[in-house]
Amino acid sequence: MNVLACDGIDPKAVQVIRDAGHTVVEAKGLAAPDLIIALKGVHGLLVRSATKVTAEVLAATSDLKVVVRAGTGLDNVDRAAAEARGVAVRNTPNANSISVAEITFGMLLSLERHLAPAAADLKAGRWEKTKYAGREIAGRTLGVIGFGRIGREVATRARAFGMDVIAFDPLVKTAPAGFDWVRIADRDTVLAQADVITLHVPLTDETRHSLSTREFGLVKKDAVLINASRGGVVDEAALHAALTGGQLRAAATDVFEKEPAPADHPLIGLPNVLPLPHLGASTREAQARAGIDAAAALLEVLGSAR
Ligand code: NAD
Repeated sequence: MNVLACDGIDPKAVQVIRDAGHTVVEAKGLAAPDLIIALKGVHGLLVRSATKVTAEVLAATSDLKVVVRAGTGLDNVDRAAAEARGVAVRNTPNANSISVAEITFGMLLSLERHLAPAAADLKAGRWEKTKYAGREIAGRTLGVIGFGRIGREVATRARAFGMDVIAFDPLVKTAPAGFDWVRIADRDTVLAQADVITLHVPLTDETRHSLSTREFGLVKKDAVLINASRGGVVDEAALHAALTGGQLRAAATDVFEKEPAPADHPLIGLPNVLPLPHLGASTREAQARAGIDAAAALLEVLGSAR
């Protein structure tokens, strides 16, 4: 069968699919109408984040059996439209958890020790030793909103750093096995008690703008926010107001409501914001794992041609 692999899927994954006897064509930067043309006679489609598999694209396909997104979430695939046409949709939910948990700590440590601005000053010839007094994270309370795969990896690392962990997740009523040191609480309690709030929820109708003016009104004035989930979970205007109005000390965000975020985005210019260009899953290991998991998911549907 024919497979179209978009967005630079890991070469090992492409090889696994070829080894199973399928023909793989690789492509980058395809959007409708070119994507529609490229999908003629294609049975399996592999994408990362760039290719938008819209209802329009899906409506024009006739042979497609499966779309696999190498990554967490399905933001760029219209799942309902695909399934309505009998096209299976898969992703690779486990591939990125460690990379995102690690960048969450990178963001937290960078924020609290001012690593990015201190390095930028030094590169510009300024030895600013007194300007950047920081904060330790040991002994402080980490509030995890969303206690799924990534939230738990983050909690595990927080424990190693000597932090206390409090978490909210509507599906987690008591601390899961192995996490009896985590306090499970309602969302407002987590927001009110945390020194560091970290978001690990999917973007859904319920979570969109779920951190807004009311929620920032609950947090400690000295608290910081880390967002490595999805930009839309936070009301960016309310976050800006909280950061400039002294309701929140600082924030680090890997994600924006609209990506790529424009250079003049109001949050990017704030001195108490550490912005990153959605790097959470951008590690060699996560991409290799996502590719291999995506190839396995694709072959589960298409089977082997040998
Ligand atoms: P997961 O499904 O394992 O966990 C998400 C958890 O959020 C679930 O336990 C769910 O019950 C919980 N949840 C749902 N609605 C909630 C709400 N309203 N309040 C609190 N909790 C809620 O997913 P995961 O693998 O841990 O990934 C979490 C999110 O991280 C993804 O959905 C994605 O948006 C984001 N992510 C970002 C990057 C990045 O590059 N920055 C990479 C991968 C994933």
